[in-house]
Amino acid sequence: MISERVKKVQESGTMKMKELAGQKKKEGKKIISFTVGEPDFDTPKHIVEAAKKALDDGKTRYLDAPGLPELREAIAKQAKEYNGIPCESSNVLVTPTKQAIFETVMATVNEGEEVIMPDPAWVTYEPCVVLAGGKAVPCVTKEEDQWRVTPEAVAELITPKTKMILLNSPSNPCGAVETHADIKGIADLAKDHNLVVLSDEVYEKIIFDGLKHYSIAAEPGMLDRTVTISGFSKTFAMTGWRLGWLIAPKPIFKGINKVQQHSITHATSFAQYGALAAMTGPQDCVAQMVKEFGERRDLIMKLMKDIPSFKCDTPKGAFYVFPRYEGKMGSEEFALYLMDKAEVAVTGGAAFGRSGEQHLRISYATNKKNIQDGMERLKKALA
Ligand code: GLU
Repeated sequence: MISERVKKVQESGTMKMKELAGQKKKEGKKIISFTVGEPDFDTPKHIVEAAKKALDDGKTRYLDAPGLPELREAIAKQAKEYNGIPCESSNVLVTPTKQAIFETVMATVNEGEEVIMPDPAWVTYEPCVVLAGGKAVPCVTKEEDQWRVTPEAVAELITPKTKMILLNSPSNPCGAVETHADIKGIADLAKDHNLVVLSDEVYEKIIFDGLKHYSIAAEPGMLDRTVTISGFSKTFAMTGWRLGWLIAPKPIFKGINKVQQHSITHATSFAQYGALAAMTGPQDCVAQMVKEFGERRDLIMKLMKDIPSFKCDTPKGAFYVFPRYEGKMGSEEFALYLMDKAEVAVTGGAAFGRSGEQHLRISYATNKKNIQDGMERLKKALA
């Protein structure tokens, strides 16, 4: 009874391992989970209070599809000031971040058109393209380039069928951060070949070592062909709220808004009042969480050095490490083995694309004690 379209895509590798770890915990196993990329912090109080107040005030009815006007304004303000994107609130559409990716691809990619995307990349990009009838073209990134997508590598993949370049900096699963030169080079390619860019910047605030985040839509002329996507989940520990946004040029915006109208209508009304408090309220909570992620990264990298079969460079953003491991087992089998033997749940690298094989993704968005204990268990099991 399942459509051919859906048969072409795999279950989400990250959600699958998260759910399996949860199931094992219910069975009484003491699993330490490094699976899903979910901050373990509570959503800051002022955000929760704003959503509660919205419920009490009866803000429970339909909104217009693009979202709460004040929230769209606040997002546009941040995009101008922080990202340097010359947008207006009319370019902003509020929607869950994953839905933003899905809607953008649905609204722009035709049957048979190609989308160049990093490999390894987050598990959901390729399925979005496949469900829209397009073809995902992997741009293989290398550890020696810090897993960056380089203009040179993208240029080699452009064909007459290329429609879109998909970027994700800082990246999931590698924590790669593209340099300004990379971004400028890719922007030039997009303009030269008349391509759309989808730039998933959901980890834009989780960036370390004093590095700066560059938005491709801030480059001259790029707002006209770029859909910038970001969200509240990672920055404000709001994963369950299912809320993010996209910034699109007017003609693409119109197409995306149709998909939004015909799918979810709009994002949850009272949740958007919480998001408004997140955008306009104090930002020290974000700085604190990012500082903690930085410390966790340093801790996990230190512990990793004691595990001889892991090789991994220090990631520059997001909250994942992506070590290569020695051994003959495929990464999915290896992840299942570690769940069984070490009671540590990770995601096999192959879920993120062919070049992710022989790697594991470890999400360190969990507390330091879990990191310490989990890495200790991995060390014992691998010894
Ligand atoms: N983006 C997160 C991850 O990669 C959340 C899970 C998901 O939606 O895939 O773990």
